[in-house]
Amino acid sequence: MPIHEEHLIRPENLVTHEQLVIDGVDVSGHWSTFIESRVVTDYNEALQDEIAALPGGEQIHRCWQCGSCTNSCTVNAINPDFNPRYWIYLIRMGMESELLRDRDIIWQCVSCNKCTYACPRDVFPEGVMKATAHWLELKGHTPKSPSMHFDEEFAGQVFATGRIEEGRIIRGFFARTGQALMQDWLVEMVKRLLRHLPVKLIVTMGLANVLKPRTRGWGRARAAIEEYVHEREQVQRRALGLDALVKAAASELDQPARGAQP
Ligand code: SF4
Ligand code: SF4
Repeated sequence: MPIHEEHLIRPENLVTHEQLVIDGVDVSGHWSTFIESRVVTDYNEALQDEIAALPGGEQIHRCWQCGSCTNSCTVNAINPDFNPRYWIYLIRMGMESELLRDRDIIWQCVSCNKCTYACPRDVFPEGVMKATAHWLELKGHTPKSPSMHFDEEFAGQVFATGRIEEGRIIRGFFARTGQALMQDWLVEMVKRLLRHLPVKLIVTMGLANVLKPRTRGWGRARAAIEEYVHEREQVQRRALGLDALVKAAASELDQPARGAQP
């Protein structure tokens, strides 16, 4: 399928001759501009299946490239390079190296879900964006995002106690992402809470911070949830071939060390 959006033409693929005369006609400069054809050889034939194995990506195969997601996208309105339709196209075609060129902006989806409502095929493009950002992290193409750190902190607390306590989540999130706890906006928010919340509630929140209360009888539910999460992680690792990647990386690291031995 041809790609029509002009900004998708990579500047390095545009070629212009400063001086060119063809059959006596001067076509120098702008008139001789043409687009070099792209040759893609490194397909990842499993790319669509890898994205579909992650939460949110399951319906990617339903896309028919109508472009409604991109047309309605909040981020695309600010940055035309943010193009869900195009990335879904690349994923379905297995063009991994092309997708990786945009690795630094895919995470910018703000989850407004306008695309989800616009999509006539129930692809859930917002979910595909999240799955793609997750895929980039799992494959080591991008560092773990703040959003992933938050999710892990949140889930970790739920697993441990069967409930969440906002103060501890914020502290844990800041520690994971190397942020100072005393931030102006946070101090202001706490001040306002202290001014407006009932004293009893403030005391309860303070105690919860220290005592880390648990949901009664949480143990069995936790075991079942952990088993499910572990099962899903294994499915995802298999789909993405992560164990093979880790093994290959480990043996690569091993090579020079062996070579260095007398
Ligand atoms: S959810 Fe993400 S991809 Fe969809 S419209 Fe909003 S910003 Fe764009
Ligand atoms: S709106 Fe849906 S069907 Fe259309 S391009 Fe986007 S994901 Fe594909």
